[in-house]
Amino acid sequence: MRVNSSSNAARQRGAVRRLVHHGCHYTQSRCFLQYHREIPSSGDSLKVVSNVAAAAAPRSCREKPVDKSGDSRYHFVMHNDQVDILTLTHARSATSRLGLVHRVLSVRHLTAAAFVVRIGRNDVPATAGQCATLGIHGAGINREYSMYAGEHDDYFEFLVRVVEGGQVSTELQRCQPGDQVDFDGPYGQFIIEQPRDPARKYLFIATGVGIAPYRSYIRSYPQLDYTIVHGVRYLRECYERDEYPPARYRTCVTREDGGDFRGRVSDYLRAQPPAPGTICYLCGNNAMIAETYDVLRAHGVPGDQLFAEIFF
Ligand SMILES: Cc1cc2nc3c(=O)[nH]c(=O)nc-3n(C[C@H](O)[C@H](O)[C@H](O)COP(=O)(O)OP(=O)(O)OC[C@H]3O[C@@H](n4cnc5c(N)ncnc54)[C@H](O)[C@@H]3O)c2cc1C
Repeated sequence: MRVNSSSNAARQRGAVRRLVHHGCHYTQSRCFLQYHREIPSSGDSLKVVSNVAAAAAPRSCREKPVDKSGDSRYHFVMHNDQVDILTLTHARSATSRLGLVHRVLSVRHLTAAAFVVRIGRNDVPATAGQCATLGIHGAGINREYSMYAGEHDDYFEFLVRVVEGGQVSTELQRCQPGDQVDFDGPYGQFIIEQPRDPARKYLFIATGVGIAPYRSYIRSYPQLDYTIVHGVRYLRECYERDEYPPARYRTCVTREDGGDFRGRVSDYLRAQPPAPGTICYLCGNNAMIAETYDVLRAHGVPGDQLFAEIFF
């Protein structure tokens, strides 16, 4: 059984009636997850056992840390009789542990609240779309960031949105070339498994900086047949949009006019469903992913063509 971790492939589906349990083994960590679902008369519930706190909700249970280090995130979506483990992103640690030290090469400030930090690659291998944890060297606190550069670039880049009061994003924003950052990774399975298959069409759905892994794919696999649907509040958050051919890049802008669509990505996709067979990736905030996931499922997109990475 191939059960993956970070996001996508960790979907266990099928008729999960009385008691079903699955093991999810995450190779870069000790995470082992089992769960079962019961259907009591009062409605659906999902009980997660083994390391993971029990959770119950009518339709979805999200973000249950495995342990107090807070380094595991789970996102379960119940879809009728199926349980999808939509996301299992697992950084090895939220604090600096085994990390390497990389030098900051440059910082590109895109808006007042978003920037791209480029760091030395140091010969670390990575697959497009994976993430790593980053933090100021020695500060002892790291966060996950998705690759923004291509897998063959001789540097790593990360597109970071500054979270007000955030411990790591605000510090990274102040970085200067030559500064040192702690780096751990890469890890995760939010990747494209057969990027060179010309028959595959991809729909990359993002909110905000959730576009980062898609840029990583596109730089790594120039032949990809893709469309991006990018949800932002303001047009200025269409980060480095010139890198995407206009015909492949659709903006859904919630707070001003001027995009391709005024509103949320979920509403856009309600009206513009993907062509059958399209492989759909979702990346960004939890609420968008949960809502869009349902929209795509309602349009008949099968669970094994849906991949997701939740940032927060
Ligand atoms: C797999 C993965 C990949 C990620 N990739 C990226 C990436 O490429 N770029 C990126 O900018 N972030 C990314 N994130 C989010 C990132 O790891 C941090 O959560 C974010 O930078 C905030 O960290 P902080 O230390 O500044 O804030 P914290 O001190 O951790 O958080 C402060 C508060 O802000 C909330 N919060 C956290 N993130 C956000 C957010 N984005 N918007 C609004 N509120 C938030 C937290 O819940 C908390 O309440 C990713 C997260 C995951 C799990």
